[in-house]
Amino acid sequence: AAKAAGKNRFLRFHPDMMTALVQRTHMEAGLQLAVARGEISVDFQPIVSHRMGQVVTFEALARWDRDGGRVPPSVFIPLAERTGLINEIGTEVMALGMVQLAPWLSEDPSRSLAVNVSGVQLQDPLFAQTVLRLAEASGVAAYQLVLEVTESVFFDADCSLIKQLSSLREEGARVALDDFGTGYSSLGRLQDLPVDTVKIDRTFVSMVRTGNERLPILSSMINMAHSLGLTVTAEGVETAAQADYLAALDCDSLQGYLFSLPQPGRRLENALQQAEEALTVLKDR
Ligand code: C2E
Ligand code: MG
Ligand code: MG
Ligand code: MG
Repeated sequence: AAKAAGKNRFLRFHPDMMTALVQRTHMEAGLQLAVARGEISVDFQPIVSHRMGQVVTFEALARWDRDGGRVPPSVFIPLAERTGLINEIGTEVMALGMVQLAPWLSEDPSRSLAVNVSGVQLQDPLFAQTVLRLAEASGVAAYQLVLEVTESVFFDADCSLIKQLSSLREEGARVALDDFGTGYSSLGRLQDLPVDTVKIDRTFVSMVRTGNERLPILSSMINMAHSLGLTVTAEGVETAAQADYLAALDCDSLQGYLFSLPQPGRRLENALQQAEEALTVLKDR
């Protein structure tokens, strides 16, 4: 009987595992094909300065449309990191972002393009060189680039990673710490990292509901970053109450659906207009 039960358990378990494996392999093959066929695209989401009343940055976000549906980056980016495809995807996102944004960037040197960079990409000793080459080829100045990395890339930070980021910073590019507050690095560690900006994760922003609450975590994050000479961007700003609250805390830049969803490059004008309208509404409140 025990043997039968064991056998049954094996039979129930085995097909599921196979299915998961087959699905993953299938998706991996699909992603590889998509990359080869140039089917990875980018959307752009504006980041605004409420002080200046304008869009200062666009963040490029990778997109994979597959069989009419969209695979979210939270699914295909980790897959790409496991398989090494992230190197190609990262380069593609950067190239597409630069080419599509070059005209907008060239109008004003204070504008910038932000791209997400995986820790895997930073292990490539030629990473910085590749970024600078792409920038030059598309006519984008290095100082108009922002590289967004998450805290986790610094966990086992080897010197080659620091070297890549540092040499890009020497050329004027900036580094932003993405999803700040979700990792384990303490605020105190911030001063040792080669970063210029922190992007406060949207879980903290979503704590602002009415705008009348006291949220010492938010204010200390912003104050601490400022005292270290860093600028602060808040991500996931969805309501006017959140934008007002963050502006009152002197948060430098804001990003979120309140201003615009991520949009394809051909709708850049649209995204700009929407974001600037939202800023005007905030000012008039
Ligand atoms: P992230 O870099 O923190 O990007 C912000 C994510 O939040 C984006 O999701 C964006 O669409 C979403 N978002 C923006 N505003 C709001 C808002 O007001 N409310 C809510 N609920 N969400 C908002 P997305 O595009 O799905 O990307 C998810 C993550 O995937 C990114 O988080 C980033 O970590 C990663 N990712 C995307 N593109 C790339 C890429 O080219 N390379 C790498 N390495 N990672 C990427
Ligand atoms: Mg980001
Ligand atoms: Mg982020
Ligand atoms: Mg995030």
